[in-house]
Amino acid sequence: MPLKKTKNYITQPLELLKKLQLTPEQMLFSEEANNSFQFKVPTAFVSKIEIGNPNDPLLRQIFPIQQETIQTPDYHIDPLDEANYCTQSGLLQKYYGRALLLVTPSCAINCRYCFRRHYPYDEKGYLWSQIEHNIQLIEKDTSISEVILSGGDPLSLSDRRFAQIIDRLNSIAHLKRLRIHTRFPIVEPQRISTDFLQILTSCQLRIIIVLHINHAQEIAPDNQKSIAKLHQIHCILLNQSVLLKGVNNHVDQLEALSEALIDNHIIPYYLHLLDKVQGAAHFSISDKLAYQIYQQLRAKLPGYMLPKLVKEIPGEVSKTPFFL
Ligand code: SF4
Repeated sequence: MPLKKTKNYITQPLELLKKLQLTPEQMLFSEEANNSFQFKVPTAFVSKIEIGNPNDPLLRQIFPIQQETIQTPDYHIDPLDEANYCTQSGLLQKYYGRALLLVTPSCAINCRYCFRRHYPYDEKGYLWSQIEHNIQLIEKDTSISEVILSGGDPLSLSDRRFAQIIDRLNSIAHLKRLRIHTRFPIVEPQRISTDFLQILTSCQLRIIIVLHINHAQEIAPDNQKSIAKLHQIHCILLNQSVLLKGVNNHVDQLEALSEALIDNHIIPYYLHLLDKVQGAAHFSISDKLAYQIYQQLRAKLPGYMLPKLVKEIPGEVSKTPFFL
């Protein structure tokens, strides 16, 4: 079934402000920031934003503001140096035994702090011929046991295309796991339809879904139902968050997030330090403060509820645990 299109989304920042009874001045709205990275937010996510609150932690994740236009030293357009690891258009082989397939440039939601906000998505990489070519490369490399579907967000694909990919991966004997990085189940929960669940059920690989939730306020009855369905078909559910100033940079917020995740069968997996992407510097906090917050969180939570605090360092073979 094709994805429902734009009626599920707001793509005009001023339309959102009207709905939330806020003014462009209150939000320090910037047209230039909006032009540099397109604004897009699903209405399901909007429904969880507090009306009249310019500091709402969900709103801050998605709204284009003036600070994005400030050029900041040490911030880059490709902070993880991905251009160097892209062995083929749409295929990244950065970690041993794993291959990352970029299958679509689209996301359900455009997050202002995204490290791929300037990524030079090459449309050709998403043609079926290129995806098939990349799958053939994975087929030839028996050292690969895990395929990671990323993008963009792989759930932006139609069910038909998603099923095609699953069929091809099912036919590769040396694969064991399929990991899917997605925000859809949370930000646009109706994407987890019966048809889509059937496609996942047809997958013979162990499925690990890595969600991206930054604040407990993002979790509500609509997406709890979708998460429960994924849990019922035995997907392993993990969450990664980014530590973001003005969104979740307080121990109580992170504690509430871990509580809400565990209540919904999701394991807190990673808490990322912000990738230094140009336009996102206003979300950063100092390493010292990040570490202090994390130590406070460690003191409050049992180990299984504590995400790993990590940093991506270009050239490193895995995420780097962060200590001071
Ligand atoms: S959903 Fe993920 S890939 Fe898409 S904009 Fe947000 S952080 Fe970036």
